[in-house]
Amino acid sequence: MIKTFSFFSILLLSLNLQAQQTTVPDKPKLIVGIVIDQMRYDFLYRFYSKYSDGGFKRLMIQGFNCKNVQYNYIPTYTGPGHASIYTGSVPAINGIVSNDWYDRETNSTVYVTSDNNYKTVGADNVNGNMSPQRLNTTTITDQLRMSDNFQSKVIGVSLKDRGAILPAGHTGNAAYWLDGLTGNWITSSFYMSTLPKWVSDINAEQQPKKYLSQNWNTLLPIEQYSESTIDSIQYESLLPSDTKPIFPHHLSDSTWVKYDLVKYTPFGNTLLKDFGIDAIKNENLGKGTVTDFLTVSFSATDYVGHTFGPNSIESEDTYLRLDKDLAEFFSFLDSWVGKNNYLIFLTADHGVAPIAGLANDYHIPAGVMNELSLLDSMKNILNKSFGDTGIILAYENQQLYLNHSMLEKKNKTDDDVLKMIQPMLLRQKGFYNSFVISELNQATMPDELKSMMNNSFHPKRSGDIMILLDPYWFGGRTKGTTHGAIFSYDTHVPLLWYGWKIKTGESGTLNHISDIAPTLSYLLNIQEPNGNIGTVINFNK
Ligand SMILES: [Zn+2]
Repeated sequence: MIKTFSFFSILLLSLNLQAQQTTVPDKPKLIVGIVIDQMRYDFLYRFYSKYSDGGFKRLMIQGFNCKNVQYNYIPTYTGPGHASIYTGSVPAINGIVSNDWYDRETNSTVYVTSDNNYKTVGADNVNGNMSPQRLNTTTITDQLRMSDNFQSKVIGVSLKDRGAILPAGHTGNAAYWLDGLTGNWITSSFYMSTLPKWVSDINAEQQPKKYLSQNWNTLLPIEQYSESTIDSIQYESLLPSDTKPIFPHHLSDSTWVKYDLVKYTPFGNTLLKDFGIDAIKNENLGKGTVTDFLTVSFSATDYVGHTFGPNSIESEDTYLRLDKDLAEFFSFLDSWVGKNNYLIFLTADHGVAPIAGLANDYHIPAGVMNELSLLDSMKNILNKSFGDTGIILAYENQQLYLNHSMLEKKNKTDDDVLKMIQPMLLRQKGFYNSFVISELNQATMPDELKSMMNNSFHPKRSGDIMILLDPYWFGGRTKGTTHGAIFSYDTHVPLLWYGWKIKTGESGTLNHISDIAPTLSYLLNIQEPNGNIGTVINFNK
């Protein structure tokens, strides 16, 4: 008996010691969260043979590749995407239901990060009147700051305000983005009252001006872009400096708003890469005793993708040039903090649909819904029934916001409205389904879609009736393309992990975008964000 007891005691003791050894509070010096705006999962492979060894391929070969990571809500847009990545949550909880939505309290459309309580720092305009106040939950970056009494430094950088602000969370030390009017890197008085000297010094160099004084030509000889369509396709949009959507793009011919054009070229990403490196150097990120966190969101891919589509030479060229920028960024990190002292994850905020006209050329069903005329038709029908067009307060993100006090007076419900408009909707080419959002579970739809829909709607911010389009159909633009749908081309994105504690491997297990934040929490032994619904990714599969 005594013998057995001591055997188990020793076993328990040794297990305990092992456990203690594996949970040593070992932290990376720096985490870099990289979001590539509009990068679909397959872009890792479509351009693989042309990527360098040091960029995407370095993470794919030496890191861990989660090959089946999906968004699980709509709309698949930039604001909700960045929010979901960093909160481990979904619009139903974190409240970021779109980039813009109708606000019932103010009877107006609000922008995800606008906040007139704060002012622009770094330019004399309103482009910095911003804050993360509409984000209802904490981010992984907030949790990191809270885990060590706010000693960790968190900085967010992007070409887009929302791509910098949401990842930096509520407690971020700074968020910077590129102001299209002045070409300056700006921030909000939410973070600081004046720009640090290093940011003012960079602004004084007027780098966007230099990039816009040159042409955008292809990195490789143009005949080598065999993964893309021919250069001039009638369905592509034009840059303001273009008369045709072809190379070279004469950027200096632009008659457009100042410096915004640089965001529509791969040089926007290069500017951001340089700014990210400058932020690390000047803020001494990764050089203290705690873990610092830089969030970087490369958005030129999105601007270029919308304009020319994912099958264009322009998109391919933007990815090849971004790959070179990433390679340079990673070798800088090697030299700054040392190879195993930083942790990278790379993902995207959403994917993208092919240009509808191009898909049609190859007999693939796709199309553009004229949403303005659809809205007019709905208003006409309701006007005939109610003698009033004011039933629809707003149509945003394919959701109708209804005037409930007016409906009550007329003794009608949301369901009555749906029944009136649905026969007309069903006659529209490209229309898939519609339902009353509060009665989602009664809709005739696959359970998988219903569960994604349940993640999408916030009771205070979402509309009343949802209108879904067929796959490869979208509203708005007749040239170029967009994203936002619930289908795989918009939901399936890359997720690569690299560096500190990350072993080499790949997995085809289904993971959701909301799994990134809790996985970081697990690796760092810190609390998950407060609205987290994700689960820790299994790196052993
Ligand atoms: Zn976009």
